[in-house]
This record gives sequence, C-alpha cells and structure tokens, in this order.
Amino acid sequence: MPELRAGVAEVLSERVVRVVAPNPGMMTGPGTNTYLVGKDEVAVIDPGPDDAGHLDAVAEAGAGRIRWIAVTHTHSDHAPGAVVLRRRLGPEVSLVAHSARDGLVPDELVTDGQRVGGPGLHLRALHTPGHASNHLCFLLEEERLLFSGDHIMNGSTVVISPPDGDMSAYLASLERVRGLDLAAIAPGHGAVINDPEAKIDEYLSHRFARERAVVAALAGAGEATVDHLVAQVYADVRPQLHPVARFSLWAHLRKLAAEGRVTAGDVDDLDTTWRPA
Ligand SMILES: [Zn+2]
Repeated sequence: MPELRAGVAEVLSERVVRVVAPNPGMMTGPGTNTYLVGKDEVAVIDPGPDDAGHLDAVAEAGAGRIRWIAVTHTHSDHAPGAVVLRRRLGPEVSLVAHSARDGLVPDELVTDGQRVGGPGLHLRALHTPGHASNHLCFLLEEERLLFSGDHIMNGSTVVISPPDGDMSAYLASLERVRGLDLAAIAPGHGAVINDPEAKIDEYLSHRFARERAVVAALAGAGEATVDHLVAQVYADVRPQLHPVARFSLWAHLRKLAAEGRVTAGDVDDLDTTWRPA
C-alpha cells in the first residue's frame, strides 16, 4: 500500500494515479487526494487547493493526456486548483462540476447519472448531497471504484454543516452508494478503502448511534442549545473538535425536527433552544 506523501505520484491501478496535496490538517487528514484517472485520455478528480507545486506534480503525472478536470464539490480544499489547472492546460480541457459556486465556473455542468470521459474511460457522476448540496461522487465503471470526495473519507471526520450540509440527505446518499456493488472507494482524504460496504455500514451505524445520543441527551436536559449538548453528545471526541462537531450536532437536530421528533424556536439558528417533541 503506497504511503500518502504529498507531491508524489503514486500508481494505484492501471488507470488510477494519486497525488496528495500539501494541505494536511484536522479536517483534511494527510491532505486532499487528487486522482488522475484513465489511460490515453485522463480525467483529474479534485485538483485540490491552488498550490503551484501540487498542480505541477499533477500536470506532470498527466503527461499531456489530461482532457477533463472534475470536481466533487466546491469546498476550498478540493476546487480552487481546478480553475488554475484549467487555465494552465488550455481550452481542450473541460472543467466539469455539479454547479457554478464558490468561485468555480465549470465548462460543463454534470447531473446525476451523466458520464464524464471518452471511449476508454467511463466515469459516472452520482449526485450525493449531504456534506455539500453540490457534491458528486464519480464511479469508474471499468474498476467499480468510487471516487467519493468528502462523502466518505478514510481517517478524518465528515462534517455536516447546515444549511448547505444536510443530515437526512447525507444518510440517503450513503444508502445509495452502499447499493453500488463497489470494489473499492478512493476517498478525498486518506487511503483507499478496500471494504466499501463495511465502511459504509460503519458510517451509518456511527451516525445512528450519534442520533440516539442526541435524543437521549435532549430528553435528559428537557431543553438545551447545541452548545450545551455538544460536550455530552461528543464526549468520545477530542474537545478541540467540539467547535466543528457543533455543526454536525445541529444537522442531527434539524433532521430530528424535520421528522417531528424535536422542536425548536428557529431550526435555522445555531443558537436556538431545542426540546423533545
Ligand atoms: Zn475535503
């Protein structure tokens, strides 16, 4: 198993090369994974941040074969490099994404089920809202390999941050990719996942356990804000992560409110008071 070292092009299969961006961190693990996919014609998935050295390494690995730049979502650790790489490579390269947002203006908007690629490369886009409303996964049909962006990561936490992030949509998107009969998952952060169904089941059971903890904590408190609940519900998580966990907790509460299980003065207000329904 190749290590996750920034700037080094690592061959993962006959069609897939990975270059890790030099942006390690609490939310990005070892850094953002940029993938080059294809043989004669190549798609770059998630060029990552606008980092000249990283984009040099990606362009070099592409060796004149890059025809598409695809972005899983428009967050700052995945998309800004796409604009710069697209400008560098010229007009024969097409920048594809779900939507124009956050400074990204795609050449082509792709919707659910649409294919990116040519005769020797079949990448199917799957709209997987949850982490971001414009999130796409890309399925390499030749290898049943799913490029999951931040929908599924390996080793770092997926934060669901409302209102663009949506817990109900996220869980539905997890169920959807679980049904794809995948061979492996190439995540936006961390190493390749070779047991996709086990990983997705782990993700689902983790979220449902957290939801039960939210319901129990709120029942015990009678009424509470997100800030009051976070230490109890995320007692297993390092306190340094609690400021970020507040957003996922809010996303859980909004899902429960949509299901009529909790109430709040204003579900769109992070500081609102929540009560059991
Ligand atoms: Zn990310």
